[in-house]
Amino acid sequence: MTNPLLAHWDTPFELPPFAQIDDAHFQPAFETALAEGRAAIAAIADNPEPPTFANTIEAMEQAEDALGRVLGVFYNLAGADSNDARQELQRVFSPALAEYSTQITQNAALFARIESLWEARETLDLNDEQARVLMLTRRSFVRSGAKLEGADKTRMAEISSRLATLGTEFTQRLLADEADWFLELSEEDLEGLPAFVVDAARSAGEEKGLSGPCLTTSRSLISPFLQFSPRRDLREKAFHAWSSRGARGGKNDTRAIAAETLKLREERAKLLGYDSFAAFKLETEMAKTPDAVRGLLMQVWEPAKRAAERDAKILETMLHDDGFEGPLEPWDWRYYSAKRRKIEHDLDEAELKPYLQLDRMIEAAFTCATRLFGLEFEALDVPLYHADARAWNVTRNGEHIAVFIGDYFARGSKRSGAWCSAMRSQKKLGKPVAPIVVNVCNFAKAPKGQPNLLSYDDARTLFHEFGHALHQMLSDVTYESISGTSVARDFVELPSQLYEHWLEVPAVLEEFATHAETGEPMPADMLERLLAAQTYDQGFATVEYVSSALVDLDFHDGDAPADPMQAQAETLERIGMPHAITMRHATPHFAHVFSGDGYASGYYSYMWSEVMDADAFEAFDENGAFDPATAKSLEDNILSRGGSSDPVELYTAFRGRMPGVGALLKGRGLVED
Ligand SMILES: [Zn+2]
Repeated sequence: MTNPLLAHWDTPFELPPFAQIDDAHFQPAFETALAEGRAAIAAIADNPEPPTFANTIEAMEQAEDALGRVLGVFYNLAGADSNDARQELQRVFSPALAEYSTQITQNAALFARIESLWEARETLDLNDEQARVLMLTRRSFVRSGAKLEGADKTRMAEISSRLATLGTEFTQRLLADEADWFLELSEEDLEGLPAFVVDAARSAGEEKGLSGPCLTTSRSLISPFLQFSPRRDLREKAFHAWSSRGARGGKNDTRAIAAETLKLREERAKLLGYDSFAAFKLETEMAKTPDAVRGLLMQVWEPAKRAAERDAKILETMLHDDGFEGPLEPWDWRYYSAKRRKIEHDLDEAELKPYLQLDRMIEAAFTCATRLFGLEFEALDVPLYHADARAWNVTRNGEHIAVFIGDYFARGSKRSGAWCSAMRSQKKLGKPVAPIVVNVCNFAKAPKGQPNLLSYDDARTLFHEFGHALHQMLSDVTYESISGTSVARDFVELPSQLYEHWLEVPAVLEEFATHAETGEPMPADMLERLLAAQTYDQGFATVEYVSSALVDLDFHDGDAPADPMQAQAETLERIGMPHAITMRHATPHFAHVFSGDGYASGYYSYMWSEVMDADAFEAFDENGAFDPATAKSLEDNILSRGGSSDPVELYTAFRGRMPGVGALLKGRGLVED
């Protein structure tokens, strides 16, 4: 019997034949596809013909077609609908894939071909996209150490392996430390807490085998506790436990791991010829240099700090009105801020929810794409991997553009969070391929017969992920390696965060936020309060975020600090951290930075993208939310281009200039009036 993963998919739109795919097919298909990839790479490296762009770079682009197909299906299922067999397969595939890619980057004959093309690049008559793919391919080899020899090469391998171990160790210690701490609560300690926090504290107690409720460091319990508990003494204890995760001494302390990690990252960057880890890391980002990142963060820092200081004064008065003396402390902020929010905005989630129906919000996201880009969505009746997943045929002027799959409900087999992935990416090399794009969310599913309702945050998540989906669906490039969302990390959130802005266009909610029972549109004053509440307490949020981003940057720019905790204190002192706010992630539990190096020296990138999306949406504010010319420019210069040019060029082509921070400050309500 042939393996359906390896056969031709004779299905509508060549969708994977989900009904025929069984978990037992993955391993043999993976091994066959991996062997095919190896053979194809070996044939390129050993080709007796002199290297050309076609026989080397284009051949590499196509070497992993089968592997891409198998893994495209597998990783979507492993994330959205996992089971024991799929988890076990993940444990087998991931080291095999790591070994496979190391073998490729260390293939000296292959690198010699790439290097000779690189040296001759001016004479190869490459178009812009080809020149870009050659540059990116060579750069990823060099950054993996392809040019190193002898002792340097050995040391590089040692460092990489030690860093991987340290990352895992950091994650595991932090988890263990978080699981360790709890605080038993008496019945009277629960007074003043909303029912859902009381319930959460009771089930936490049961889980620990205690006779009564307790507090743990689980974010979904401790964060509302800090927001709602009127007991200042308990808030203080809870806050100390929360903020000292990973720094309590003993076997779960992570501080020594952080120090060693920073040292090794610096050594690796220097082996590769960079001044610092930040210089190495930022080379491939839109920001490019540590100074560019610092410049942006400091422009946001000062107005955010001033806004937070203004808010602190108001909250401190509320503290004093409650009969406490002295300054506002970090364990007071969330509590008084929640009180103030209720007074100033009076937004009741329960009242809002019936207006945000899942199906209407999907329709809203689709309709915006119709008005902006002319896309049409037609529901497809095809077998998918789970009964809750739905598919649409996406067309423009009758022409097939993509298949879009929406998989919106939470379930035990799905990992948490929300994401967009491509089961198949767009490309034109060989034969043109239309993408299959998936949005996965974790919205609560209503009991049978009742409408599925979203919170406003859920609706924003839906628009966010759909923005990523548009980046994949509208992609129009030749090479898969630069298709869709294959762009720098500090650029990839631009299309998604930008799309969130259409949810805030009042006409969109006026049309699509209709009551589940009465069908009435959302009342105008509710809509107004909802939109106004979006800028509430942004001074605090910005300060806790930017301080973390600045500490991350300082750690990796220049020499690695011997004592990261002291270095952290110095940075906070230098920037004048407000007394009642702490870093969103302090070093001993800064998993973004120490669990792996994906976000190391890269924590800033959320804000970098936000600066761009706020500035980019101003173009629509100026010309009209659905202005056809602005939408066309967005598609032509950004959404269709993937990674085919430097993001600075793409953005500048759309906006005529690089973004300033003005629109972000306005959007976050940080401009002083
Ligand atoms: Zn995103």
